[in-house]
Amino acid sequence: MDEMEVLLRRGLGDLGLPETAAPAMARYGALLLETNQVMNLTAITDPADVAALHFLDSAALLTLTDFKEKSVADVGTGAGFPGLPLKIAEPSIRLTLLDAQGKRVRFLETVCAELGLADVECVHGRAEEFAADRRESFDLVTSRAVAALPVLAELCLPLVKVGGAFLAMKSVDSEAELAEAKRALETLGGRVEALRDYCLPGTDVRHRLVIIKKIRKTPEKYPRIFAKIKKNPL
Ligand code: SAH
Repeated sequence: MDEMEVLLRRGLGDLGLPETAAPAMARYGALLLETNQVMNLTAITDPADVAALHFLDSAALLTLTDFKEKSVADVGTGAGFPGLPLKIAEPSIRLTLLDAQGKRVRFLETVCAELGLADVECVHGRAEEFAADRRESFDLVTSRAVAALPVLAELCLPLVKVGGAFLAMKSVDSEAELAEAKRALETLGGRVEALRDYCLPGTDVRHRLVIIKKIRKTPEKYPRIFAKIKKNPL
């Protein structure tokens, strides 16, 4: 058993999640670091940091809200975070991974094939365009490290079903960002339901999950094209 797998077993156990997910995560972590030598996937390269900051940070969401049997889209998933660790630890999730960079999506397809995850949909595309096909069709939409909340809300909330939730992974000092997003959330049919702070096992790092409930349909004119979203956030 390598270092990453040991740390993952311990960390998953600390989170109260099944340690049986550790070998698949460790295999994925090894692929991530190997592929990262030739393709820019992550700035985090120490195996202990990969375990905590990528895998446990992602898996921790399972302790904060119910993902069982849910359809989940991970917007701007990059090398697969948080979406793929969630699927590995909670196989009943119906997962769609979305990223604007084709080479990252190809990496995700390789990981899914290597891990035998046959039912993960890997999509190369932009969130604001994906909404034309898959508007209001996901129970949950996750996103980490993609954009500030006023912009991110317009990328993500149109994809969420009414009654579902947008789960934004943020830092514990996100009050100003939340205040700035208030009008955008209202316009797009969202309402902040809870802020759940959590600690990454084996570290003193604290992160925050912002749970935004979809309470009304998003008006048809959103999302706008990205240039407009960026230039004039709601
Ligand atoms: N969520 C991952 C990756 C963050 S990097 C993690 O936390 O590790 C941000 C990623 O978002 C990049 O891979 C980029 O291609 C993607 N991205 C940025 N804007 C996007 C958009 N509008 N639609 C889809 N993907 C987007």
